[in-house]
Amino acid sequence: MHPTIRHIAVIGAGTMGNGIAQTAAMAGYTVSMLDISPVQLDRGLATIRKSVAKLRDKGRLAESEEAVLNRIKPDHDLKPVEKADLVIEAASENLDLKLKLFRDLDERARPEVIIASNTSSISLTKLGAATRRPEKVVGMHFFNPVPLMTLVEVVKGLGTGNGTINTVVGLAERMGKTPVVVNDAPGFISNRILCPMINEAVFALEEGIAPRESIDTIMRLGMNHPMGPLTLADMVGLDVVLAVMEVLHRDLGDDKYRPAPLLRRMVDAGYLGRKTGRGFYEYDQKS
Ligand code: NAD
Repeated sequence: MHPTIRHIAVIGAGTMGNGIAQTAAMAGYTVSMLDISPVQLDRGLATIRKSVAKLRDKGRLAESEEAVLNRIKPDHDLKPVEKADLVIEAASENLDLKLKLFRDLDERARPEVIIASNTSSISLTKLGAATRRPEKVVGMHFFNPVPLMTLVEVVKGLGTGNGTINTVVGLAERMGKTPVVVNDAPGFISNRILCPMINEAVFALEEGIAPRESIDTIMRLGMNHPMGPLTLADMVGLDVVLAVMEVLHRDLGDDKYRPAPLLRRMVDAGYLGRKTGRGFYEYDQKS
């Protein structure tokens, strides 16, 4: 049995970290939101304030905004990890950075504490092996925007214990999410299927089979997808899609995962999608 979880440390206050911190606080947990960048902490808190206010306006908040916000304690130091009952790491997607962070977290967290990672592509088996508690290292892959998206892909590393899986499945459910357990493999299930689909759409565009709007319309109306793959690529970020394709290509060793040359050229040009104002479509920078 695991001791009761009351206090969660979330590492990183970026896009995903602040969403996870907010969702955990709304589920009643005390949250330490930790980021090395004070600017990112301020931004993360501002995003949470806005999101909580919106949920209140829609009548989707069970208590006052203050009650939720008071449960979130920001800090630019990892010290609060020593008191946490569970850690969710959502720092930048970089293997060396995460390996170092996992060693640090392993030093600081009590031995029985689970350390989960929100990574979208790094091997949980590898992160677990960097610690002295591989049985307590697991993936909790949330989706953006975290307060609204209901899936959590729970990733079982080679060394992850069944007790750890049961605990994070229970935690995800208490956070109002639907957890789905998968084994550790490149791209897990979500990106293993999503990114090759987007990549194939880029190949189709590059080969001149149809223009961008037609490709997106076919997938929207024919497959009932809420948006077409090229629109989705612009939302996710072309650099992120390319990085995942490179992981799939390298780690699965199969050329069927080779990134489309057009995808690579667009990343080289800095056309990364919405965040840079141009991807497969053009965007007003303010939108
Ligand atoms: P982000 O760049 O918005 O935020 C990352 C934050 O980590 C930054 O604020 C940075 O200052 C902080 N950070 C870096 N090193 C740190 C350290 N040593 N200690 C504490 N904080 C540190 O990134 P993001 O989009 O929120 O992604 C975070 C993680 O979530 C990544 O692993 C990513 O793959 C994963 N993810 C992202 C998405 C998405 O749609 N953005 C979806 C699912 C999973």
